[in-house]
Amino acid sequence: MIRHDYSRVDPKRRANIDHKKKQFATAEYQQLNYEHRLNFYDLPPTAEITLEEFETWAINRLKVLSELEGCSFRNKGPEETAEYMKGILDKHLPLKSDSSRSQKLQDERRRDHYSHFILRLAFSSTEDLRRRFSRLETMLFRLRFKDDDPRERQGFVHSLNLEWDEVKEDEKRELREELLAASGQKKGDDQEWFKVDWERVPELVEQRRVLLKRGKAYVPQREQMSLVVAEFTRKLDDALELTARALPRLDEDDRLAPILAHLAQSFATPDAAYSSTDANIDGLSAIRATSIDTLAQNFPLCMRNLHMTLRENSHLKHYGRLQYSLFLKGIGLSLDECLVFWRRSFKLIDDDKFQKEYKYNIRHVYGDVGGDANRRGRGYTPYSCQKLLTEPAPGPGQTHGCPYRTYKPENLIPLLQRVGVNDRDVLKTVREDVGKQRYHVACNRVFEWSHKNEIKKVKEDGSWSVNDLDTIVHPNTYFKRSWLLKHLGEGNVGVVNGGEKMEE
Ligand code: SF4
Repeated sequence: MIRHDYSRVDPKRRANIDHKKKQFATAEYQQLNYEHRLNFYDLPPTAEITLEEFETWAINRLKVLSELEGCSFRNKGPEETAEYMKGILDKHLPLKSDSSRSQKLQDERRRDHYSHFILRLAFSSTEDLRRRFSRLETMLFRLRFKDDDPRERQGFVHSLNLEWDEVKEDEKRELREELLAASGQKKGDDQEWFKVDWERVPELVEQRRVLLKRGKAYVPQREQMSLVVAEFTRKLDDALELTARALPRLDEDDRLAPILAHLAQSFATPDAAYSSTDANIDGLSAIRATSIDTLAQNFPLCMRNLHMTLRENSHLKHYGRLQYSLFLKGIGLSLDECLVFWRRSFKLIDDDKFQKEYKYNIRHVYGDVGGDANRRGRGYTPYSCQKLLTEPAPGPGQTHGCPYRTYKPENLIPLLQRVGVNDRDVLKTVREDVGKQRYHVACNRVFEWSHKNEIKKVKEDGSWSVNDLDTIVHPNTYFKRSWLLKHLGEGNVGVVNGGEKMEE
């Protein structure tokens, strides 16, 4: 489905291809017509797309799946999840119904179709990834199924030709009492029933919402959604197994392999590009070296930890300085002020040593010296959570990285208490999160707790949209959001997201 710039067939061999077989070499791929909004993804896409589309569409879907996962980690109920996801879906993976008469219907459905299959490729390599992908795709399907226009949804269900046996009238009469007891409905309530092999509806069996008889589950019409969703999961699980077996052949493709590897990594920890708007914070005047101690209260734990270590030791090792300088640059600290900040912070060394050993590196971060021509003037981009969570662990005496990952729980909890996180339930859940390697979830949990009153307020007065409170995956976003929330009502405070991305 990727547009080919070259053929993999050796030109000499191509010359010898039997002319009768040439029909296979020039397969005609077609664009599908998407009749329904919902999709069981039975057919893989075959039309061409560019590499850029391949990557962008997949990243957008990944964002949606990560947010869905975040909702379940944070125990949001179905309604809260649906409300939260609405904005995220509209932004990253819109999928309108036929009745919307949107001109973009086919485009949206195509992106949905392709992005599903791209992520299927990226996440079929291990049992763990397959299970996660299947769970999240099922959540997404259920969300959309519920939200679908009822008539269009019925049309979609019919199109699936699912092999459900309708329970005939005579059987219904025979089992009447048992069916009514199973459905928990009153007598006289005459609804349609289907029967399927009981293994196909484990969720309903587990919740005792069906009648089990002779190896069949008798399912009332109103449980149709569970049936359809169970079928979706079953098919997807089978397809993922097949994809896993076909994967080794893809390793040869040096265009796709790196993209797929990056996507798989992003599934473990969502990635985010630094947005240059993170440095433009309404209401926050030009940041000076002397403001950092106060602003540090709004820093995420990774940067707060670096700041505290710097204040304690009057020194930070190389990677810590790099991580912190990039972050400070990202919040809007100018090069001159950054140099003042480091010079004053390194109290124990003299000017000469500072000039010789430290100044150059700080200027390099800002693109003032060194680097290739492309980076000159811009320097390097502040690190995302993904970068901090996946780089090699710090050695003795080093403090860089994300403490949720690099600290053992017995050290992490006191660190959190030191910065004011003293709620026992929050600390307990953070411990569980990090035990399951959900580091950024722990960080978001702490953020939500530390800003709970402000979040409640902006939600109640509607001044921030749900999207303004999506999962934080960049330390600079953490700072900006924290600062804005803690300074509500002061000037123009309120703009959180959007804007141009700064190139890596
Ligand atoms: Fe910093 Fe991200 Fe770790 Fe939070 S999750 S502490 S923002 S690296």
